[in-house]
Amino acid sequence: MKINLSNIKKTKFYLDKNECVGIPTETVYGLAANAYSRNATSKIFKLKKRPKKNPLIVHYCDLKTLKKDCEINNNFIRLYKKFCPGPITFVLKIKNNSKISNNVTNKKKSLAIRFPRHPSTRHLLKLLKYPLAAPSANISTKISPVSKEDVIDEFGKKIKFVLNGGRSNVGLESTIISLIGRPKILRLGGVEISKINKVLKTKLKFNNKKKKIISPGQGRIHYSPGIPIRLNVEKSKIDEAFILIKKRKNSDKNFYYLSKNKNLKEAAKNLYKTLRMIKRKKFKSIAVEKIPNIGFGEAINDRLIRASKF
Ligand code: AMP
Ligand code: MG
Repeated sequence: MKINLSNIKKTKFYLDKNECVGIPTETVYGLAANAYSRNATSKIFKLKKRPKKNPLIVHYCDLKTLKKDCEINNNFIRLYKKFCPGPITFVLKIKNNSKISNNVTNKKKSLAIRFPRHPSTRHLLKLLKYPLAAPSANISTKISPVSKEDVIDEFGKKIKFVLNGGRSNVGLESTIISLIGRPKILRLGGVEISKINKVLKTKLKFNNKKKKIISPGQGRIHYSPGIPIRLNVEKSKIDEAFILIKKRKNSDKNFYYLSKNKNLKEAAKNLYKTLRMIKRKKFKSIAVEKIPNIGFGEAINDRLIRASKF
């Protein structure tokens, strides 16, 4: 999709006035506000009905602006060179003289940061005098948005503007890695762990059985369409939406394909769009066929397990 300069300027206009706006990223759409402003960032929590204790991810356009707020280290540089801009978020030490609002960090000494790849949002970030705090543009615990229409579906007229950037390419949130002390994966997402391990020469794994929740993306209920989901199903019930990743011989109007040939990257891209479509069609429940727990399949299963605890 071509960059629309006048819409980018309109987005800047509202952000400069400390308003929240919807912005496109390659992972999902974000609900963005000036990360240096207490007033602007408090609107994010209000709109999303997000608990104040859940810190936000801050979006930067380049290293120079990041270094004003964060301490960087060698692991960060290695991963930055390989994956940025892109769907990976780093938790770093925040500098004492950083201007980031306490609202964003919940007064932590750490900050989650990302360099989004979407061209319109990169362009926008270059025009701004501040980085953008931007969690996913959905009501807390609900399905994340992957298009402008999804954001409007979530917030209607409650937000001033949504910058249209087409469908989110990755369609799943960023991978979150803490780089304070030993690297630790906090959330599965748009960059596969195997790729991170290659760069860092590590054998990191995602441990979702931890009791203590460091990232709200790790919360037990999340990404929920608000109806029951059954996982690892071979045959769906009548009147149940059936999510599939491989073409079946028979066909049924209740079948929803994330992919027709087990392409897990394609399946990840289609996940939230499909859940939202099924919800809109007022099905009472969803069945999902078994999805291999490898690569992007691991992230898809993680989201579906949380979505199924509605
Ligand atoms: P969202 O943008 O709504 O998908 O959520 C942002 C994610 O970043 C949440 O899972 C946050 O908990 C996580 N996050 C933000 N700041 C930090 C931090 N300082 N330490 C750990 N996780 C963080
Ligand atoms: Mg979210």
